[in-house]
Amino acid sequence: MKYAIACDMEGIAGIVGYPKEGLGNSSKQFLAASKQAVREINSAVKALYDTGAEKVYVWDNHNGSLNMDYTELDTRVDIIAGVGAKHRWPGLYDKDIDAVLLLGYHPKADTFAGILTHTCSSVTYQYIKMNGVSVGEVEIDAASATRLLGAPLIFIAGDSKLVKQINDDMPWVSTVITKEALGRNLAVLKHPSRVVDEIFIGVKEAVANMDKALLYDIADPVTVEARFLRLEDAEAVYNSKSKDVELLDAFTVRYTVKSFLELY
Ligand SMILES: [Zn+2]
Repeated sequence: MKYAIACDMEGIAGIVGYPKEGLGNSSKQFLAASKQAVREINSAVKALYDTGAEKVYVWDNHNGSLNMDYTELDTRVDIIAGVGAKHRWPGLYDKDIDAVLLLGYHPKADTFAGILTHTCSSVTYQYIKMNGVSVGEVEIDAASATRLLGAPLIFIAGDSKLVKQINDDMPWVSTVITKEALGRNLAVLKHPSRVVDEIFIGVKEAVANMDKALLYDIADPVTVEARFLRLEDAEAVYNSKSKDVELLDAFTVRYTVKSFLELY
């Protein structure tokens, strides 16, 4: 079996961030997040190889990528790093990936009191809906894995709000709660070392249950409703020359694309 692990950072154990800040390179907790991300990845990688993996890829996709010291990662992995890709999961389309795993993921933008909630950009969207349903980065990356890799999502680690939502919406996905969310920047943190152990057990369970995994998708054509934080961002999309955009209110636009892959 071949696996791809995508690693974001906001959902990593030990991280709550700071009000009105994202988790950028200069933020207070970036180094802690970077170190713990490596530990969580290595734990998942070990569980995959212990259960017979042939190859594991790691996609470092938080912010502008380049979020960790790659020399600290398990030497068996190959790493997808950098920015500028046309689609999600770059470099993996010809690698025969059997399943994908998400570490460090976070609740979508319109989740109340989830840790460091956002969808795609913390300074851009209040929410993104596709075909009437609010989606976050989990839905986007799970649907992208379906379209681009033909691979199901089998495991996710993140805060309690994210895990509850995924347990409801994608019941075949094995989950590990990294922290109990009390607010956007407030949590009861599980000790990061215990999370590393739980990820090892959770990933083994995910592999054992792989035959039950489903391919999550967002059906074409996709009607996108985006509510922006700033008026000028809504205005820029409304004025797009390439698509027919409806203005729902000063902050909110709606348009339809033929294929999900036109978006991500
Ligand atoms: Zn991120």
